[in-house]
Amino acid sequence: MLKPYKRVLLKLSGEALMGNLGYGIDPSVVEGIAGEIAEVVALGVQVAVVVGGGNIFRGVKASASGMDRATADYIGMIATVMNSLTLQDSLERNGVQTRVQTAIAMQEVAEPYIRRRAIRHLEKGRVVIFGAGSGNPFFTTDTTAALRAAEIDAEVIFKATKVDGVYDADPHLNPNAKRYQTLTYGHVLAQDLRVMDSTAIALCKENNIPILVFDLTVRGNIRRAVIGESIGTLVGG
Ligand code: UDP
Repeated sequence: MLKPYKRVLLKLSGEALMGNLGYGIDPSVVEGIAGEIAEVVALGVQVAVVVGGGNIFRGVKASASGMDRATADYIGMIATVMNSLTLQDSLERNGVQTRVQTAIAMQEVAEPYIRRRAIRHLEKGRVVIFGAGSGNPFFTTDTTAALRAAEIDAEVIFKATKVDGVYDADPHLNPNAKRYQTLTYGHVLAQDLRVMDSTAIALCKENNIPILVFDLTVRGNIRRAVIGESIGTLVGG
């Protein structure tokens, strides 16, 4: 009998909200994701979310064309807040009480990040979306996901992507590429496999937080992941 996770942290890249658009947010895609999150909340699973901002702004890219890196990263963090509020709106329209907490204070639109308060919201069955990344430039939302997962004692990070796991080669270029069912943190770091950036992997390794990489574009996958079905690639100790 499969046992569902009790508390999970879902990492959504900004691109996950973009669908097939070249930029920004596709409301129907967000609606689909919100519906799936609502399903697992209804199962009694506590869900925290970290949203990226790459669909709107990426600090590294802007700094490559001359912008001050820290400033560019602050813009990137603010972009994640736009995504967070969009997802919050969609979740609440699906009947799920949702709080956005930001790592950069924006009290008119969201709560500030307060760890114990976030945990309380989760215990009450509310979804908590962590916006504005870690609040620090030179970091990523993947690292934020690892950090927040450790802080709120999440059992697992769900790293939602557009591929159904981690492969030993690019499956688009190599038809013989094989998907790993499980991987160790050490293997991911040594082989520089693109699961999450190395800071995020190191944090997960130190705190023993498994990462499940799976395809978000397949409907029902969030529920499958939550109930422990074997999908995607599980990275662990
Ligand atoms: N960012 C940052 N610190 C953080 C998290 C994010 O400076 O703790 C900035 C950084 O510029 C990054 C942008 O926010 O490029 C968007 O986040 P990310 O690239 O991680 O989003 P994703 O790739 O998941 O869409």
